[in-house]
Order: sequence, then C-alpha cells, then structure tokens
Amino acid sequence: MKTVAPSLLAIPRSWDQGAPDRLPPSHKVFALRDLPLGEVRAVGFDMDYTLARYRSPEIDALAFTKSLRFLVREKDYPVWLLEAHFDPAFAVRGLILDGDHGNLLKLAADRQVVRAAHGRRMLSTAEVEALYGRKRLAVSTPGFRSIDTLFEISECGLYAQLVEALDAGKLPGKDYPALFHDVRWAIDTAHRQGDMKAEILTHRDFFIPKDPQLGPALERLRRGGKKVFLLTNSEWTFTHGVMSHMLDGQSDTCPAWTDYFDLIVVQSRKPGFYTEGTEPVPVPGHPHAYVGGNSAWLEERLGASGEDILYVGDHIYGDVLRSKKTASWRTMLLVPELERELELLEQKSGELREVIRLESMRRRALRKASALRDQAAGQKARRHVLAPKASPEALAALDHEIAGLLREADEQTRRAEDHAREVALLNHTVEAAFSPLWGPMFRDGYEQTRFADQIQQYACAYSGRISNFYFVDPNATLYAPLPTLPHERV
Ligand code: IMP
Ligand code: MG
Repeated sequence: MKTVAPSLLAIPRSWDQGAPDRLPPSHKVFALRDLPLGEVRAVGFDMDYTLARYRSPEIDALAFTKSLRFLVREKDYPVWLLEAHFDPAFAVRGLILDGDHGNLLKLAADRQVVRAAHGRRMLSTAEVEALYGRKRLAVSTPGFRSIDTLFEISECGLYAQLVEALDAGKLPGKDYPALFHDVRWAIDTAHRQGDMKAEILTHRDFFIPKDPQLGPALERLRRGGKKVFLLTNSEWTFTHGVMSHMLDGQSDTCPAWTDYFDLIVVQSRKPGFYTEGTEPVPVPGHPHAYVGGNSAWLEERLGASGEDILYVGDHIYGDVLRSKKTASWRTMLLVPELERELELLEQKSGELREVIRLESMRRRALRKASALRDQAAGQKARRHVLAPKASPEALAALDHEIAGLLREADEQTRRAEDHAREVALLNHTVEAAFSPLWGPMFRDGYEQTRFADQIQQYACAYSGRISNFYFVDPNATLYAPLPTLPHERV
C-alpha cells in the first residue's frame, strides 16, 4: 500500500466567491521556483501548442486519418483500415506507449505503472501487476515512447487500433513492435510531408482558434523591457501561416505578427538546438527571422544568456528539460489542458472535500482499532500474570473486558473498510470526470504522476495559456510555495 497524503490534494476555493477581483486560477502563472522576472532580459516562445493551440480532437482526427493513409498506401496495410475513426476519449498527454506489448501506460511519480490499456482495453490491477510488477519502469529505453505533446495523442489512438486489429488476427505478419515502428513512421511522415499542414492552413479559422489577449500579453512583456523571441521547430511557411492568422492586424504598434518579436527562429531542431545546432540561415524579406541556428548564436543575438532567458514551451523534454539542463535557461511549461483540469477541480471540490473527510475518518478508525488491540494485548499479558492468584470472578471480568476491547477493535476495522470503499467509489467518480480511462493528468488517487513530477523537477513555472502573461507584472518576482517537511506543518 502506497503512502496516502490527502493534505497534498489541491482543492481550489471558488475564485469568484467573496473576492471578485481575484484572478481566476485559469489566468494564473504558477511558479514552482522563485522566478524573478526583473532579472529576465529575454522571453522566448515555442509556437505549436504554446502560442498556437489547435482545435482538438479535430486536428488529432486529421493526423490520424492522414497517417493511416500513409500506412495503407506505402506500407501495405489493408484498405479496410481506412474506415477506422479516431477515438478522442482514448488517450491523454503524459502517458507512455509500450511498443513491445501494445500497451499505453500511466505512471506514478515513482515510475510505477498505475493504469494500463492493451489496445483500448483497460487492464485490471492484477494484469498490470503481472506485466509490470511493482518496479520502476525505465521509460527512456527503446520500445517506450513518452507522450509529451498533444501532437502525439493521435499516435496513441492509431497504435491502439492497430493492436486491436493484430489481436483479432487481421494483420498477419505483424507484431507489436512492428506496428509501433510503422505508426511512428506514419505520424512522422504526416508531419513532414506538407499535406496535413497545408490543410490546417487552408482551414485555419477552424483549426486555430484566435486568442485576442495574445498580442496585448506580448506587448506587455515588450513594454516591460523584455526582448521577445519565437523559437519553433515548425518550418517558415507553416509558422508564417499560423502566426499571421493569430496576430496580424491586432495592434497599431505591431501591425504584422513579426513586429512582436525581436528574433524569430524556425525549424530550430530542438533539442539539438541547445547543443550542436546548425548555422542560421536568414529568411529572405524578414530581417530578424532565421531558419535553424543554435543556442549560443541566439544568446549572442539577444545579448542575454543562461538565466537571463525565460523560455516557454509545451514540450517537457524538448522545450523545458533540455533548455534548462543544457542552456541553463529559465523555463515555463505551457499546459493547454490546465484550464480544464482547474475547472474540473473546482466543479468536483465538494466531492474532493468529502474524500478527505472520509479518508480522515478511515485513518482515525484504523488508529482506534490498533490502540484497542494494543490495550487488549496488555490486558491479556496482565491476565497471564494474575492467573495463578486471582479469583475466577476477577479473571472472568478481565476476559469480558478483553473480549469487549477486541469486539470494539473489529467494529472500528469494519468502519475503516466501509470508509475505504466509499473513498474508492468517490475517487473513481471524481477521476472519471477528468478522463474516464486515465483520470487526471497530475495525479492518480493520492499519488502524483510522472508528468506532475517532471514539471516540478524541470519547470520554473507553468500556466494554461500564453495570454496569462497579460496579468503578470513583467518585472515582478513570482514566488513558489515554500517547501515544507511534515514537522513544519504541525
Ligand atoms: P514547436 O512545438 O513549435 O517547436 O513545433 C513542433 C513542430 O514539430 C510542428 O511543426 C509539428 O508539425 C512538428 N512535429 C510534431 N510531431 C512530429 C513528428 O513526429 N515528426 C516530425 N515533425 C513533428
Ligand atoms: Mg510545441
């Protein structure tokens, strides 16, 4: 049994009750380490799923269909597969694909598997235990793929449906690793071959919702004396198409999207950008836009380096972990799912409070049961000592007392079991609201997930959307909650 720490559960107070001028949590930037923005001289942004959000699940369905077509056309997968539809409820970010076994996994912070699906069938606790046991999973080894960006949601769906087809005997000659490899190839091809992006740009009003606060947020940073840069792995045509849609004509001071940025780097090849990188090539007609480059060159161009730079992206590895570890930049993770997670936490706050109340009662009952059994053991020992000299009546009274203590202990144990069942039921209902299959991104029961752990290890801050910078004084220090040990919380 893992340790249970309900005091860790964050139950947001309803933000609009009693304090109408308080910023709603969905608009906040949450600091994980103190972030003195006054010391930051340049703020950089990733584009895809950071500055730009894409309409989901429609964009996932598009990637799913395009990739499936590549498999049928170029890898001889059966034509009937083209009838498959993307299943939007199946995958969430932060999971791990196990390509050797046809599985998708949710990991706790200690890297143990807490939930798993084979194909799209959720595995029972016994099946998970049998397959993965209670050991730390080495997910950075080949055969696993960490679902770090929203682009990879379609990859999970495609793999799972092919696994189902394989299990049904409909893909002779294939095995789980072959499917895993082919799906990776197909998704990769869909991103590289321009068709999918052309379609997104043709229908950009549909696929890319605008955020009217984005321009003002970037302008606020510029007014605060920050250099603002864009650093994306997307190529110029796509970047130009997306960013002009989002920002052109939104402000008199920055009529073109490029006016918001001191430096624009496309096709940056993160995470390689932070190590070897490439020689930057200027984009014709755009004096401060480049294809490729490397972090040393970027730092020189900006006149800022290391902790002078805050970089914001949605990819925990490519945008946050590598930029922090290799270039020593400050980092912020953009978590597009955060708004919904916060909304659900608030909606379910009543149930969450009830979970904590019941869990406290369960623990109290267990403590009482334990104390009663301890008392009974003491009385039994006493009876043993007294037996040779005490009267039969006195011994009978002691026996009666011991039996009473044990009865009461059993009663407390039974109560604790009732509470445990109630807690499990309530927890299940609450978690299913986040995702019926996977629960919340940040925890599983009382445990934090690997995703939550990674954010805490590598990001200085996180937030749900870039326009939240509009509500932040660009030279304020954002303070992290004080870390506390149990003895400091009494
Ligand atoms: P960024 O998040 O702005 O750095 O850009 C991400 C870029 O990577 C987008 O242009 C995506 O289309 C692209 N991308 C995402 N997944 C893949 C892949 O599997 N293969 C190749 N490109 C990808
Ligand atoms: Mg991105």
